[in-house]
Amino acid sequence: MTTFESLGLSPEILKAIQDLGFESPSEVQEQTIPVLLEEPTDMVALAQTGTGKTAAFGFPLIQNIDLNSKKTQGLILSPTRELCMQITNELKQYAKYYQNLNTVAVYGGASITDQAKQIKRGAQIIVATPGRMKDMIQRNIIDISNINICVLDEADEMLNMGFFEDIKEILSHSSDQKNTWLFSATMPKEVSIIAKKFMKNPKEITVGQKNISTKSVSHEYFIVSGRDRYSAVKRVVDANPDIYAVIFCRTKRDTQKVAEKLIEDGYSASALHGDLSQAQRDMVMNSFRKKQIQMLVATDVAARGIDVDDITHVINYQLPDEIETYTHRSGRTGRAGKEGKSLVIVTKSEVRKIKQVEKIIGQKFTQEELPSGDEICKRQLFHLADEIKNTEINSEIDAFIPDLEAQFEDLSKEDIIKKFFSVEFTRFHNYYKNAPKITQHSVDESYSAGGGDYGDETRFFINIGEKDGFNWMSLKDFLKEQLNLDRDGVAKVDVKNTFSFFNVPTNDVEKVQSTFETFKLKGRHVNVEITKDQKSGKSKKFGGDRKRSDRGSRKRFDKSKSSDFKGKKSGGNSVKSSFERRRKKS
Ligand code: ADP
Ligand code: MG
Repeated sequence: MTTFESLGLSPEILKAIQDLGFESPSEVQEQTIPVLLEEPTDMVALAQTGTGKTAAFGFPLIQNIDLNSKKTQGLILSPTRELCMQITNELKQYAKYYQNLNTVAVYGGASITDQAKQIKRGAQIIVATPGRMKDMIQRNIIDISNINICVLDEADEMLNMGFFEDIKEILSHSSDQKNTWLFSATMPKEVSIIAKKFMKNPKEITVGQKNISTKSVSHEYFIVSGRDRYSAVKRVVDANPDIYAVIFCRTKRDTQKVAEKLIEDGYSASALHGDLSQAQRDMVMNSFRKKQIQMLVATDVAARGIDVDDITHVINYQLPDEIETYTHRSGRTGRAGKEGKSLVIVTKSEVRKIKQVEKIIGQKFTQEELPSGDEICKRQLFHLADEIKNTEINSEIDAFIPDLEAQFEDLSKEDIIKKFFSVEFTRFHNYYKNAPKITQHSVDESYSAGGGDYGDETRFFINIGEKDGFNWMSLKDFLKEQLNLDRDGVAKVDVKNTFSFFNVPTNDVEKVQSTFETFKLKGRHVNVEITKDQKSGKSKKFGGDRKRSDRGSRKRFDKSKSSDFKGKKSGGNSVKSSFERRRKKS
């Protein structure tokens, strides 16, 4: 087995590695570190999330710094503020035995003057987001003309976020003599363009599926109808009282919506997305790290690369738009040698995407049934029983015992147990007794059996039009943005005075419906419906049937919800508090 000692690392770094408890280098570290230490070179390294890329570039970068100079010698660009802070913290740990090495994080949403002050004191390494970095260079606060090394971390994500121009601008202020090390989980076209444009004969390293973290992740999926996504998540959560999860949604709006619903239902959850202020995001992340929040509902960008141990479940509320992103999501769990589950909620028409994901992760999914109401009640019950059994007896209670015993004098042990557990059991039982079984919707079945070809389009009616200020072009843009569809995603937009029509690929029908389910325009509920005059009779039947039967089941479900909600609320809180109790014990 390769050791850190054999890679050519300095005694200071080796000592820090020992403190960190890393036993042996990960594959990407094993491959990159000796190469980067040996001679100046450009590099492209591809490895999945959780493979230890930070140390792969961090160790050689630190070892490259001339500690006699206070000049900025290394720059790391990374897509988000959270990652900047995370990388900076890691580097500080790696370099803790170097007295004079300063690493400074530079990112938006925080005081530029404070960051400028830190840099004035001498920052040999700067870890920055591209936007703020460009700003600081333009204000002459940072001089990168002397950097020897520039690291582009999570390059694919930076490009996804539209940082190409900023990166180009930043790099134009650095010398041609420097080396560029690009680290990325995936190699989309844009990344290879960067590699060609900014790098000279880069050495290329690709690390296969081997991954320090994700090999202990199992992947499961559940097929439900689009409207049952939330109920499906709720069941998973109810069936796993100790869950500590990240729930990924595709859009900010879904993220907010799911978090709000969970909170309303009494769970300990919070949303994390780009519309929150930096202070809010920090607060959410801190509470999640401290396990004061049990479920983080996040967009991909907001949660990218975030390194929190002990996450038991990653829940994909929807699959990501870019299949590659799935590896980033599932990599959030199964860390530090623990087991984790990555669950995906899909509709029947999305099942084929599971196959694509399987190819990318090199692992098989298993299809699972959502737990039934009975199963959930059982698990909650035995979870409570375990908790009670493991509770240490508090001697302060002794004073009350004679009176308590007197109160239960007439009851047998069996009855006491029955009554005691009924307190908790009844709450879940009432909630689930009327809840319909969640399965994929039967109409989805007939729909897909009828052949949901890729080329198929479905026409929608929407109750906004010219009087809301739209013409066909602006409505098309609006729809593309709301639905997160690409250029060809919305077609045949026909705008009337108070309503309009548009087509989307039939594959995206569910997306349209879920997007507009709760959407409001200027306070008014926006209604979209599949039009009756579809050219394809299949779609018409699909639309009509789906609607009627969904209404019926929703109504039943809502009723059980409203009558049991209050009870459930405290149930949720007790889930939270028992979760916190568990934490304190451990
Ligand atoms: P990536 O950037 O590839 O997603 P990170 O650099 O964030 O991965 O590393 C993921 C986690 O693995 C971090 O908690 C890090 O401290 C840990 N780690 C890194 N290298 C090793 C190693 N050689 N042995 C054990 N843990 C490691
Ligand atoms: Mg990383």
